[in-house]
Amino acid sequence: EAEKEFFSRVSEKANQIFLQHESKLKGLIVAGPGITKNEFLERGMLDYRLKEKILGSIDTSYTDESGIREVMQKSDELLKGAEVTKERAIVNKFLEEISKDGLIAYGDKEVLEAIELGKAKTVMVSESLGWEVVKIECEACGNVEEFIIKDTLTFKPSDLKCSKCSSSKVEELEEIDYIDFIIEKARSTGAEVRVISTETPEGEQFLKSFGGLGAFLRYK
Ligand SMILES: [Zn+2]
Repeated sequence: EAEKEFFSRVSEKANQIFLQHESKLKGLIVAGPGITKNEFLERGMLDYRLKEKILGSIDTSYTDESGIREVMQKSDELLKGAEVTKERAIVNKFLEEISKDGLIAYGDKEVLEAIELGKAKTVMVSESLGWEVVKIECEACGNVEEFIIKDTLTFKPSDLKCSKCSSSKVEELEEIDYIDFIIEKARSTGAEVRVISTETPEGEQFLKSFGGLGAFLRYK
């Protein structure tokens, strides 16, 4: 009876605190010494929306502040595992959609176009691309444009020419990482961006077979 009372008190508090931030909440970890935390997960009255976000539980040796420190240390692995699982899932969904010719785009031109037209819902970009974007202004005609530099090792700023008047008198305005460039573009049209690591076979395949850039589309 005391246990039931305790569980309902904890559930109530947790629901009260976490539900108001539910949309921003990425995951919950339940921690504590012994098996009480597992019983809590089974019999507690945690709201179903919170239950869906539980990443796992962690055993601690203490119940005081050092227990909290323990949780911080041990949750790294748990969070990483959850991230990897999510990553594999999204790449697998991408492959599945491709196989049935679904609402998908891949390749840098196609994906960029999809973002700019507002067609992209979720954009996936490999963290290992290593591209850069150089923004220039033409001193002859005033044209401002962006060049995507895929091979940053052999790139020379002096190679850049204005595509409107072909003048090579161009001023470099800024140089940004391609992933930041994509995030910025996506933000302006309401697309979500997922950066995909190459730590999983799926992420590796995404980079090698699909150029490390893909998007789920709202429509075609
Ligand atoms: Zn020009």
